[in-house]
Amino acid sequence: MKRGDGAAVDQAEWDRVKTRLKQEFGESAFKSWLTPIVATGLRDGEVELSVPTRFMRDWITTHYAERIRALWNGENPTVRKITLKVDAGRPAPAPARDGQVTTARAAFLQPLKPASAMRTTTQTSAASSQGLGSELSAPLDTRYVFENFVVGKPNEFAYAAAKRVAESDDVSFNPLFLYGGVGLGKTHLMHAIAWEIRQRTPSRKVVYLSAEKFMYSFVRALRNQDTVSFKEQFRSVDVLMIDDVQFIAGKDATQEEFFHTFNALVDQGRQIVLSADKSPSSLEEIGDRLRSRLSSGLVADLHPTTFELRLGILDAKAEQLGVVVPQRVKEFLAHKISSNVRELEGALTRLVAHAQLVGGSLTLETAQDLLQDLLRAHDRRLTMEEIQKRVAEHFKIRVSDMSSARRSRAVARPRQVAMFLSKQLTSRSLPEIGRAFGGRDHTTVMHAVRKVEELVKADTAFAEDVELLTRMLES
Ligand code: ADP
Ligand code: MG
Repeated sequence: MKRGDGAAVDQAEWDRVKTRLKQEFGESAFKSWLTPIVATGLRDGEVELSVPTRFMRDWITTHYAERIRALWNGENPTVRKITLKVDAGRPAPAPARDGQVTTARAAFLQPLKPASAMRTTTQTSAASSQGLGSELSAPLDTRYVFENFVVGKPNEFAYAAAKRVAESDDVSFNPLFLYGGVGLGKTHLMHAIAWEIRQRTPSRKVVYLSAEKFMYSFVRALRNQDTVSFKEQFRSVDVLMIDDVQFIAGKDATQEEFFHTFNALVDQGRQIVLSADKSPSSLEEIGDRLRSRLSSGLVADLHPTTFELRLGILDAKAEQLGVVVPQRVKEFLAHKISSNVRELEGALTRLVAHAQLVGGSLTLETAQDLLQDLLRAHDRRLTMEEIQKRVAEHFKIRVSDMSSARRSRAVARPRQVAMFLSKQLTSRSLPEIGRAFGGRDHTTVMHAVRKVEELVKADTAFAEDVELLTRMLES
C-alpha cells in the first residue's frame, strides 16, 4: 500500500485497533464512541479520524485518542499521531432530520398548542403546574438536579451525555439511553435534564414519566376509545423522557404504540431520553425493531459505584443535611453499603436522625449498631468462601492456597487481594478474616489491606483486576 502524502488508511490495521479498543473499553463505550469513527487518511505519520459531532471529537480526544494512538503505533510504527476532525456532513449517530432543530423550529412545528404559552418559567414549580404537560408529566423531584449529582468515574460518561442533552437546543443524541442497576442515579439524571431544559428554554415542552404511567395512560385511552388525543399529546412534546422502559417489555400493544410515538418524535427532530435497568440489547421481550431503534442513539451506562464515589456522595449528602459526619463513619458506610446509592443515603439519614433524636454523637460504634440489620443482609449475600473462590479463579491458583502456608508471590498476592476484598465487602473483623485464611494473624490481614491499597494506587492493571473482582462479587 502506498504510504506518505495523503495515503489511505490500512483498514485491516484499523480493524485490529478497533478490536483491541472494544476489549479494553467494553461493548457500550465502544458502540457509543468508537464505532462512529471513520479513519480517513494517513499523512506523515499522522492518522486522521473523522467523527460526526464536536462533542464526540472532544470526548474521544480526552478519553480515547491516546490509547488509539498507542495501539495503532503497535500495529504500524510509522503512526505517531492521531488527529480528530469533525465531519459535519456525516450523519450523527442519532440524526435529527436536519441536524439542527432549533427551539424556534420546534415551536413552529406545533404552533397551536396552548401548552407553551401556559408554561411557567420558575424552576421550582412542579410539572403539574405546567399546562398541558400536567396530564402527562410526572412531578420532578427538586433535589434531583445536576448540582446535586456527584460525578466519578463510574458515572462520568452518563453525566456528560445527560448534561450535553440538557444544554443543547438541537438534538444531539436520539435517543439518549441511560441504563444501570437500581439506585445508581438514572432517575436523578433524567430529572436533572428536565429541570435544566425547563430553566434554559421554558418554551420547550418537556415531559417526564415512568414507563408504567405511559402504559397506564395508553390503556386508559384505549378503554375510553380516545387514542387519537393520546397520540396527539405525545406528538406535541419537544423532549420526551420515559423512565424504566424495561416495564414496557412484553406488553405488545403498548410497545407498538410506544414505537410509533417514538418514531414520530424522532422524525420531527424531538429529543427522547430513556432509562432502563439493562442495555437495549439485553432487554428481552422487546421486539427487534424497537430494540434496534433504542440502540440507535447514544447508550450510556452507569456503572456500580466505587468507594471514592460513595465517599463523595456521603460528603455531599452530609453537607446538604448540614451535619458533620466523622470521616471514619463515612468510610465505614462507604465500605459496607456498596450496592446502591439509595441505601447509602438511607443509612446516613438514619444515622443522622438517630443522633439528633437521642442527642448522641455520631461515632463508628453507633453506626455499627444502627446498621446491623442492613449489614447482616449484605453479609448474607457475600461470604468469604465466595470471595476466595472467585479470586482464586481469577488469578488461576487453587482455592486451598488461600489458606495454605505458601508464601511465593504468585499465591501471596491473590491471597492479599482476597483478604482486602473480604474487608471491603463483608463486615467481618480482621481476626475473623485471618482465621478464614488459614488461621493467620489479624496484623497479616491489616498488612494485606494496606498493601493492596498501595498497589491499587501505583499499578493500573492491578487496580483494574481489583475493580473487576469487586464488581463481579457485588453483582
Ligand atoms: P435509579 O433511578 O438509577 O434507580 P435514582 O436516580 O433514583 O436511581 O437514585 C437513587 C438515589 O441515589 C437518589 O436519591 C439519588 O439522588 C441518589 N444518587 C444516585 N447517584 C448519585 C450521585 N452520583 N450523586 C448524588 N446522588 C446520587
Ligand atoms: Mg429510577
